[in-house]
Amino acid sequence: MTTSTKGALAKTKPTNKKTTTKKGSSLEHDIHEALHKYFGFKEFKGTQEKSINSLLDGRDTFVIMPTGGGKSLCYQLPAMILPGCAIVVSPLIALMKNQVDLVRGYSEKDDVAHFLNSSLNKGQIKEVKEDLVAGKTKLLYVAPETLTKEENLQFFSDLKISFFAVDEAHCISEWGHDFRPEYRRLREMMDIINPDVAVIALTATATPKVQSDIVKNLGLRNPNIFISSFNRSNLYYEIQPKIKKEQTIKSIVRFISQHKGKSGIIYTLNRKTTEELAEILMANNIKAVAYHAGLDQKLRADRQDQFLNEDVQVIVATIAFGMGIDKPDIRFVIHFNIPKSIENYYQETGRAGRDGLEGICVLYYSHKDVAKLEHLMRDKPLSEREVVAQLINETVAYAESNVCRRKILLHYFGEEWENKNCGNCDNCKHPKEKVEAKDDVVKVLKTIKALDERFVTEYVVNVIIGRLTPQINMFRHEKLSVFGIGKNNQESHYWNSLIRQVLLENLIRKDIEEYGLLKMT
Ligand code: ADP
Ligand code: MG
Ligand code: ZN
Repeated sequence: MTTSTKGALAKTKPTNKKTTTKKGSSLEHDIHEALHKYFGFKEFKGTQEKSINSLLDGRDTFVIMPTGGGKSLCYQLPAMILPGCAIVVSPLIALMKNQVDLVRGYSEKDDVAHFLNSSLNKGQIKEVKEDLVAGKTKLLYVAPETLTKEENLQFFSDLKISFFAVDEAHCISEWGHDFRPEYRRLREMMDIINPDVAVIALTATATPKVQSDIVKNLGLRNPNIFISSFNRSNLYYEIQPKIKKEQTIKSIVRFISQHKGKSGIIYTLNRKTTEELAEILMANNIKAVAYHAGLDQKLRADRQDQFLNEDVQVIVATIAFGMGIDKPDIRFVIHFNIPKSIENYYQETGRAGRDGLEGICVLYYSHKDVAKLEHLMRDKPLSEREVVAQLINETVAYAESNVCRRKILLHYFGEEWENKNCGNCDNCKHPKEKVEAKDDVVKVLKTIKALDERFVTEYVVNVIIGRLTPQINMFRHEKLSVFGIGKNNQESHYWNSLIRQVLLENLIRKDIEEYGLLKMT
């Protein structure tokens, strides 16, 4: 290892100047050798090699790769061959141990990788720090809180650091699916510890907003950015209307019975529903368990293992389940409620078919669930409500669209899908006829105007279809000419959906400050 270390050192003096690479073939040779030597792999995947070379050149590097793409290697390999120790920031204490064990598996010595977080006691911390000072450790995983501690800052400043890696870098952005405010202080901390070494940021979140947040907040300096395609061609996307709960449950039971013995996840919005659904599945001879953050740690770990070991077929879970789960043969992911964002949907469905084989993703969609999500937000500060409202709107647009689902998902991640027909989503397999709704749109606009823009969707819809509620009676709105203007279609569901579309086209807007009153634009 000493020779390769020297070779790497000579060529990778940390510099933030753009290096016109006359990368010696020796270095390229080195990283292939290292790939084989430390990790036992033959070839690099996707953008791994480019990302690694960029980091070895001392450049700030930003790796955007879908889950399972092999991001860890992009910092683990350089850490092994560069002098000093790499500091890896990672948000989940539970996954850190796992990562460290993996790295240790590649090496003869355990001290090659450590983690420092609140789960260690004083004695353990002391041991880790001794290994660090002795220069034995190449990779140190830390929680963001660890970096911000005064005593650690001093300690790290005296260490030889090879580079910083920020894993799950989307945690820095409130537009991501997992915002962690502590991530916002990382640049400040890195500057204190060592401003001269390169930073590599990694995420599976590719929305342009999150990307620019990461570059800005981490203060990446003229970074090389490597983006992989997010298309998961083996996943089938489908939306099912959810009109009655019992019907939906029946349809889910039928679906699972048709997929005997195949592992799947059902995501629901709340804890109670996970228990309820799991019970119904059990009653239908489907082995299922519930999983949510309200269960104690031990029970959660047990149920997760049961699922991984296939003692149960289906896990019915809130979004508390799934981060870091690496089960390659999950065959279906069902959403019983609409997810909070397209990003969430992509990550959650992304757990299906990681082996490249079939993965069926069905989302049961109803307006009521959208209202429930919005209701959950009612006590949050305005700025947060605005962010969430927009994320929900985009998800609703996805659910209600006639366009190829894949195209919409990829577009969300800034990727253009050129093929007209992906052949693997409901809209491509069974194209819907377009309904000409222009007249009805006019009715909606007229009604909102007639109501002085002072009412929420539900009320507006009741007026349109001419349903005399006590509230309408109180305001004497049954006297308005628009009352019952849309009698031709009595389905409130239809009008709700139309109002959504009109909102998305910006003909009207929802006043979030005033609890969702519909206004003209
Ligand atoms: P991510 O963090 O992007 O979700 P991981 O770093 O956890 O992905 O890697 C996913 C899987 O791919 C791991 O099992 C890892 O060992 C494997 N892997 C990574 N790089 C390679 C490679 N070059 N060749 C073969 N397998 C690889
Ligand atoms: Mg990862
Ligand atoms: Zn399609």
